[in-house]
Amino acid sequence: AKERGKGRQVTYQPCMDQRGAEQSRIAAELRVALDEGQLRVFYQPIVRLDDGRPVGVEALVRWQHPERGMIRPDLFIPAAERTGLIVPVGQWVLAEACRQAAQWRREFGPDALQYVSVNVSPRQLREAGFAGRLREVLRSAGLAPANLMVEVTETAVFDGGSALDELREVQRFGVQVALDDFGTGHSSLGLLRTCPVDVLKVDKSFVDRVTEAGEHSVIAEALIGISDGLRLRAVAEGVETAEQAEALRRLGYRYAQGYHYGRPVPADELTSLTAALR
Ligand code: C2E
Ligand code: CA
Ligand code: CA
Ligand code: CA
Repeated sequence: AKERGKGRQVTYQPCMDQRGAEQSRIAAELRVALDEGQLRVFYQPIVRLDDGRPVGVEALVRWQHPERGMIRPDLFIPAAERTGLIVPVGQWVLAEACRQAAQWRREFGPDALQYVSVNVSPRQLREAGFAGRLREVLRSAGLAPANLMVEVTETAVFDGGSALDELREVQRFGVQVALDDFGTGHSSLGLLRTCPVDVLKVDKSFVDRVTEAGEHSVIAEALIGISDGLRLRAVAEGVETAEQAEALRRLGYRYAQGYHYGRPVPADELTSLTAALR
């Protein structure tokens, strides 16, 4: 996809007006969806590779559309990002996920769930006062900062501006920070050493090939090496088979997430979390 420059200088493409109109339409409908309570948060377990026990969950937004059914985030997050609607949508997801995590910890004990991990879009992170609002969300949910992780992308963090400052503040008061889709961005690995990050989420594209011989698995191996060297934790994303899980474990990965362990489901269907403790 074509990157949108800071100066909004994009080359004209005939289909763009149409796409712009489409995005505005989605955004307008999404505004209504937010107000009328059509958004849902699904949860997917993040597990320890050695015994498969859940340590956390990732919160993933869905849109329960009255006519079109469940809409996946890929279809509306880009429009929300471009129109700025991602700010209230993201704030709602944060609040809902923190409330749910606090409830689970009360219901099943603190061992059932160490953290809930929430995606934060670049626009949201750059919005002034993000860290302060995050603190307020935690306070009203009754969730300790250590029980929250925020997932940000390399582009958001290294784009300059206030994002890095907001993130430093977030980390300083005890919230964990994860770099999402790690390995797919263009950032200099040197920056990683000094940036406020605790966890690397190794992108599915590297996990997909981890069982293949030779050069295909070297990237997954290199990424765990970087993670260990910088004393970060790595989570392998998109693990779909037992063979992948085993290959990752052999490379030294300790945490994973993917359909092999559980798909994203509504809060009341997240049995893996509760089954271990019943
Ligand atoms: P992501 O943050 O990289 O989330 C992981 C995506 O991979 C999720 O798709 C998840 O359902 C999917 N996934 C997990 N395990 C597997 C697997 O084993 N195989 C396959 N094929 N897929 C797997 P989902 O829920 O459709 O979300 C797509 C993207 O939308 C997310 O990618 C994230 O970038 C964005 N997103 C979702 N919720 C939010 C949100 O609340 N705020 C923001 N800003 N973005 C969100
Ligand atoms: Ca994510
Ligand atoms: Ca990801
Ligand atoms: Ca992704």
